[in-house]
Amino acid sequence: MLNKGISEEELFTFLADRKSEDLDHDFILSSMCTVPHSVAVRAHCMFMETNLGDPGLFPGTMALEKLLINRFGSLFHCPDAGGYATSGGTESNIQALRLAKALRHDIRKPNVIVPESAHFSFRKACDILGLEMRKAPLTRDYRMDAGAAGELVDRNTIALVGVAGTTEYGMVDPIADLAKIARQHDLFFHVDAAFGGMVIPFLKKPIPFDFSVKGVTSIAVDPHKMGMSTIPCGCLLTREPDVLNSLNIDTPYLTVKQEYTLAGTRPGAPVAGALAVMDYLGFAGMKAVVTGCMKNTQRLIAGMETFGIPRAATPDVNVATFTCDKARVPGPWKVSWTCRKHLRIVCMPHVTLGRIEAFLKDIGESHA
Ligand SMILES: *Cc1c(COP(=O)(O)O)cnc(C)c1O
Repeated sequence: MLNKGISEEELFTFLADRKSEDLDHDFILSSMCTVPHSVAVRAHCMFMETNLGDPGLFPGTMALEKLLINRFGSLFHCPDAGGYATSGGTESNIQALRLAKALRHDIRKPNVIVPESAHFSFRKACDILGLEMRKAPLTRDYRMDAGAAGELVDRNTIALVGVAGTTEYGMVDPIADLAKIARQHDLFFHVDAAFGGMVIPFLKKPIPFDFSVKGVTSIAVDPHKMGMSTIPCGCLLTREPDVLNSLNIDTPYLTVKQEYTLAGTRPGAPVAGALAVMDYLGFAGMKAVVTGCMKNTQRLIAGMETFGIPRAATPDVNVATFTCDKARVPGPWKVSWTCRKHLRIVCMPHVTLGRIEAFLKDIGESHA
């Protein structure tokens, strides 16, 4: 720590310099996060000092969190759903499995079944919670093989996980088939819709993935991805409104005497930001955003294929993947690569048609 403080001007010059070293979103094609919507930024700034970890002090902010959960409950066909705002998909997934474990404390050596395509947050969750993670293989289209998943179930299985909008290939697992298996074996069925939860409901033909599917127990969705809120904001939703109470622990010195959340101190600012975007855009506005992102995804795929760079999959959401030589991707574009070495581009709202055309022009002119 500096012995003597520096002037505000010097300080902010220093901060601006560091910020200028960050990448320009104009060239970021690899991220599931985006530039937050202006109303999210404005709402975030309004609620900067709020702490949802001590909600008795911030009843207004707590009401916003409740509203956000209600909005998602309705969007996901279960208006009475319970839930709370997390720090993102990782926390939502950890808490979903923590809940599944708490509901089956009779099982001594619990295991969970996830698709091979599951986000790495499930590794963390299983590590922390002492769960055996069983990976179900994918079918050729990168979706979870429901039949194979069913064969992995045994008497120690406490939960089944499906992904609605996979991180790498943008696929929706066969949620209805998986729900059937979950019902047959009376399993907790968690749907990880961290990315897809704010995409799929707004597609021309929405794929059933939510509480409309009988057997879905909980859903993770991240407003800080396609919801265009400020970071960090995820949500965990449960079909049963009060089931999270099974995770309650005592919190003696706070305004509430028990809590089921993972984090203690929790920011209200991004929650206000997430709700702001939803209410400002409404269903129609979100649909317009998603329609644009899907069109751009299709344009990107078509454009790449004219250069002889074939798609790796035909995605359900706005994630495009290609069989492409690494050397062929020109700078300063920032793309990502999947485990299977496919080029991956996420067509987020900041990746406009203009940016896609610019990228296509550059990659069309590059020769590896
Ligand atoms: C992004 C993502 C996560 C992790 O979310 P964080 O907000 O980064 O913690 C989990 N699951 C899926 C499917 C994701 O796309």
